Amino acid sequence: MRITQTELNRYRQDLDRRSNAAKAYVSGRVLDECRGLSVAEARKRALEIVGDSNGVFGDQAQTIAADLFDEICSAEGIDATSEVFDDVIDYASMEEKVRYYAGDMKDGDINGYAGSLSDLAAFYVKRSAYENMVRNCDRNNVRYARVATGRETCGWCFMLSSRDFVYHSEQTAEHGMHAHCDCIVVPGRRGATKIQGYDPEGMRRRWAMCVDASGGYPDGTEVRARWDAMTDEERAAYKGGWKRFSQLEYSRAVRAEAEVRDSSWLYTGKEPGVKYAPGAELPTYGLLKKKSASFNPDDYSPANFVVSKKRTLKDGNVVPAVELGNEWKDVFVHDALNHSGFAVMTMPKPKDGSGHDKKGVTSPDVSIGGVLWEIKSVENPKQQPTSKNRYKFINAAFESARDNFSNVEAADGETVDMRDKTRVIISTRYRDLSDLDEHRIEDEIRRRVGPGKRAAEAIWIDSSGRVRHYR
Ligand SMILES: [Zn+2]
Repeated sequence: MRITQTELNRYRQDLDRRSNAAKAYVSGRVLDECRGLSVAEARKRALEIVGDSNGVFGDQAQTIAADLFDEICSAEGIDATSEVFDDVIDYASMEEKVRYYAGDMKDGDINGYAGSLSDLAAFYVKRSAYENMVRNCDRNNVRYARVATGRETCGWCFMLSSRDFVYHSEQTAEHGMHAHCDCIVVPGRRGATKIQGYDPEGMRRRWAMCVDASGGYPDGTEVRARWDAMTDEERAAYKGGWKRFSQLEYSRAVRAEAEVRDSSWLYTGKEPGVKYAPGAELPTYGLLKKKSASFNPDDYSPANFVVSKKRTLKDGNVVPAVELGNEWKDVFVHDALNHSGFAVMTMPKPKDGSGHDKKGVTSPDVSIGGVLWEIKSVENPKQQPTSKNRYKFINAAFESARDNFSNVEAADGETVDMRDKTRVIISTRYRDLSDLDEHRIEDEIRRRVGPGKRAAEAIWIDSSGRVRHYR
């Protein structure tokens, strides 16, 4: 069967309604009944109120989930029966949260207390639906998919969403939801149940791109050193020991990589598009004569850029010459990043009153998600380098990028030394690397990245447009 977005939206809206009702109910009762109570009394009353809310709105959410479960199972010819469960919200953890929020009451902030508790109750409504689905699937041996809205920027949700229809045992033990998580669980059969707009295969492809890009994932030695520095007690927390620890570190690094990509790209593959800001429009970089429908590195060869001589038209008007400026090589970088789901925005150079570049102010080339980066497109050396300095261009790229972070204009017009936030994108599209060792290049980059090093982060884009991210 095919589940449409309309059906899923209706399901989400049904849950939202219950969740909003729980919010109003809890907030109203807390303001009514907890005013003037001691912290201990207020805590006790709050536990009752949130518990009542779970009993009413949580159960309604479970029923909505169970209905969808039954509907899909019967459409798919799966023999299964749903249930509504008693203890989907863990009482001990609820108690702990209510206790934590009681801190608001100590400060006499009853509005804050009501707000926190009503948010909690709203979360428990969604959580009840989520748990209900997982348990019904588990009991009936039905697979399920975790489906995110696609607006979420959480790497954890993306990872779990990309797994398609799996059994409960195949999801990790930590399958739950975080605050403001809009993920839902949908039962189904792998290969048979289709969800409109849900593309786990493509999501896995993009996850693989993030895996590939986290070349900056601390190499074995670094992770090992961290493990060795831990106490026995800390190590005991990782059941499965070193192997588990390194797996978790790896997964964390890839999730962090996913989180710097555009979320719509992650979920649907739609490229975010390069934003050319006023004063840094595309023509100021260079225009391509022809551009392929999808990203093709060959498009960015110098011969494919528009260059023309000065011409005089019949009517006497003069068409000025078009020459390639300094930054035409950036166009490849913009598009390669966009193709890998980075939302790139070009940054105009700060101008003085008469429209000239401001003196003494340095300005990094682009912003990715509000973070500044400098692009260094390295070229072939004018002279054949000696074997000793064949990799020197990497150091030069880092140092030149640092210079561009030394005097950055802030919003208030003051300039700031941002060298400790240097981020550099090194493109080797226009440099022949055939006599160089790729691992050595990576080592040269990696040892310059990190706290107290030459840059906070670095990205290497090779001639194919492959992105590797070091941090
Ligand atoms: Zn989520």
